[in-house]
Amino acid sequence: MPEIRTVTVIGAGTMGRGIAEVSAVAGFQTVLYDVDPGQLERAVAAIAANFDRAVAADPPRLSADAAAAARARIRTTTDFDEAARAGDAAIEAVPELLDLKLDVFRRLDAAAAAGALLASNTSTMSITKLAGATGRPERVVGMHFFNPVPRLKLVEVIRGERSAQEAVDRAVELARRLGKDPIVVKDSPGFASSRLGVALGNEAMRMLEQGVASATDIDKAMRLGYNHPMGPLELADLVGLDARLNNARYLDGTLGEAQFQPPAILERLVAEGHLGRKTGRGFYHYDASGKKLGEAI
Ligand code: NAD
Repeated sequence: MPEIRTVTVIGAGTMGRGIAEVSAVAGFQTVLYDVDPGQLERAVAAIAANFDRAVAADPPRLSADAAAAARARIRTTTDFDEAARAGDAAIEAVPELLDLKLDVFRRLDAAAAAGALLASNTSTMSITKLAGATGRPERVVGMHFFNPVPRLKLVEVIRGERSAQEAVDRAVELARRLGKDPIVVKDSPGFASSRLGVALGNEAMRMLEQGVASATDIDKAMRLGYNHPMGPLELADLVGLDARLNNARYLDGTLGEAQFQPPAILERLVAEGHLGRKTGRGFYHYDASGKKLGEAI
């Protein structure tokens, strides 16, 4: 496989823009693709704001020159084939919907360079199945980043049943060059992280439904009692309740264990459009800057 110089990111939402940011900071030419030009504009503005904050921090996390150079390494496009052709590695970060992801991998296969590493940021789905949409499953792996990408150090590298060792090694090396601390995980629904995260979050939501304690106190129990940096309900709001519901549905359908069945309260909040921090309301209310205000349930 050729040396990775250019990273293509497919999808410019919460995760895609974070992956593009760390890629540019790490010195890679970075191509960010989305179907929605508005998302690309918002992504570039959010990345620029993060760079400004990093430069203004005391002490600065990034010099003004480094920030300007990183910004210059990012370009955006709504031309899928052009984006796919440009990347020595392509990382897919479109919504957690199997048919959509299969379609993206089919199109990556048709357009990407022969030696390119093809990776999915899926939180739960089978890498083997996604790889099966391509004629080169040996080049396909999972690279599961965490939100917010610039801050969280973990990347789960998922070895599909047909992933070549070389592709796994490249993904581990790429993750390290992006400043992350990767682990390699077998291709199993929800991998090592989402399976535990969904089980804990679902149980917290059922406890809230049953009136066991308030949202604040359930979160406090895990923060103060178990030393988690965030409680399970505030974390679900940060992840996005729509994303969390998709993950729960997928694990329920694949693992079929009762703890993965989506809680009614999660279904209801998503149906009402309350998706967590990004819409200003989930289990808590948030102001426009994302600051938590108070309980919403
Ligand atoms: P998001 O909804 O914030 O962003 C998805 C982006 O994909 C949007 O910008 C949308 O316009 C775009 N999109 C939709 N259809 C597309 C297509 N056909 N081609 C290209 N772009 C398309 O979603 P997200 O939270 O960034 O999640 C993306 C992936 O990352 C999912 O697989 C999710 O499970 C995974 N993930 C999310 C988190 C999290 O905390 N949000 C953490 C780890 C992994």
